Amino acid sequence: MTLTENLSRYFGYDDFKEGQEKIIQAVLNGEDVLGIMPTGGGKSLCYQLPAMQMEGITLVISPLISLMKDQVDALTEMGISSTFLNSSLNDATYNQRLEGIQKNQYKLLYIAPERLNANSFLELSKQLNIAMVAVDEAHCISQWGHDFRPHYQEIPRFIESLPHRPVVAAYTATATVKVTQEIKELLKLRNPVESIIGFDRPNLFYQVVKTGDKFKYVTDSVKQNFQDKSGIIYCATRKTVEGLTEKLTTKGFSAAAYHGGMRPELRQKNQNDFIHDRVHIMVATNAFGMGINKPDVRFIIHYNMPQNMEAYYQEAGRGGRDGEVSHCTILYSPADIVKQKRLIQLNQTSPEREKLLFENLQYLVDYCHTNECLRKKILEYFGETPTFERCENCGNCLDESEMMDITIEAQKILSCIYRLKNRFGLNMIISVLRGSKNKKILDLKLDALSTYGIMTDHTSESLREIIMTLVAKDYIFVTADEYPVLKLTAAAGRVLKSDEKVFHKKHLVEMKAVKNKKQS
Ligand code: ADP
Repeated sequence: MTLTENLSRYFGYDDFKEGQEKIIQAVLNGEDVLGIMPTGGGKSLCYQLPAMQMEGITLVISPLISLMKDQVDALTEMGISSTFLNSSLNDATYNQRLEGIQKNQYKLLYIAPERLNANSFLELSKQLNIAMVAVDEAHCISQWGHDFRPHYQEIPRFIESLPHRPVVAAYTATATVKVTQEIKELLKLRNPVESIIGFDRPNLFYQVVKTGDKFKYVTDSVKQNFQDKSGIIYCATRKTVEGLTEKLTTKGFSAAAYHGGMRPELRQKNQNDFIHDRVHIMVATNAFGMGINKPDVRFIIHYNMPQNMEAYYQEAGRGGRDGEVSHCTILYSPADIVKQKRLIQLNQTSPEREKLLFENLQYLVDYCHTNECLRKKILEYFGETPTFERCENCGNCLDESEMMDITIEAQKILSCIYRLKNRFGLNMIISVLRGSKNKKILDLKLDALSTYGIMTDHTSESLREIIMTLVAKDYIFVTADEYPVLKLTAAAGRVLKSDEKVFHKKHLVEMKAVKNKKQS
């Protein structure tokens, strides 16, 4: 039977999605592959279809227990024999499945990475005819990715222990150069055929909203635009998830919570309610979503800023899988940066990795402050060179707010950083510009600087906004440290010499003080 016949017979599709055929053909030719496709791009088919045509069994290594069951159920429905091994099974079922595998009852076996090198499985695997090892979410092997799983690094040892090396196929939605390089090296892929599918998702509308009242924004937005529509609200912490869910339900919105600290049964129930439209809004931490395939999610709101662009792209990518428009909004507040930094520090990783995490966070902060096309920023992050300057379909491209010339303000700020000898952080710079009398400033005699108190007409919020915009425009560099310091870049000279003008949105420059509004 031909590939397309199998495609329509088992999966009911007439055509391949972009990139699928190339990968499948390569696998069938016995070549290793690296498939990089955005979330929703159709990675599963790239191993499921060849698995059916190859002699022997295909192992699918996946970090997601919930996804395994869903996929096995779906495959069984299509008449494809498959099963899974992970920690959710009791001993009897586990052993029964091992027996089934030994008797060649399955074409596909989903397996959690930590199970691979367990003795019982290692023994068994040596007797099997393993046609392919498909590594799903392959970026989990990389320390540089956002989702590092140490057990992934044991996959090559497992493959090397096999009497015959199977085809190794790696799939991920993460395309940064560093991560893809590491996937190839650590998984020891042999001249892999690579297929990188464009990361642009034209039906996603990206925007960044700066509001002093996030809750009001959410309720207004849902009432006005998303009545009875499905959406996900991502929060940085479990506490925020619970607080926000309660506030929403009290106001009569249909919302449920999802985070790693909940009882598994309740979490599962909430997830099912959301998927089957019994609940419209899922309020969740980043524990929610990988592998969840709900096509009609119409909005994704990030109530707190995500940690990095990869995480953001994946989470936002859960919207509009049906190809219809979905709105992806980050509700930005400077307090979130502090919160994310704290989360990074709590991780207690190596200083090198911590530095990288701070850098990644800074890219997202820049994203929140740029006036340029947001889609372009995202695509550039993933190594693409967009053919457009403006997509005309994101919050920034469609923003009609009045722009104002802030060259003078920029010069004052840059001079202040210069006078402070590139040695201080954001808050100190703001305090000096606003002529604060705080003890540290007086002790260090910073009140004697010529730039002391030269911007008293601006609120702290406004200064913070302008400074972060200058960072996004690369006039200022922020060090990736626990206490970041702001330094001038070479480009700052052009502004200081009035060779270059700077513009920013008028309403943000004129931002009023946020009065006692508690933000979570
Ligand atoms: P990913 O793992 O890349 O996020 P999935 O494998 O879950 O994506 O596929 C996303 C959606 O696309 C699924 O609903 C799947 O059934 C659908 N799909 C996959 N391949 C095709 C195809 N060739 N034609 C139509 N739909 C497809």
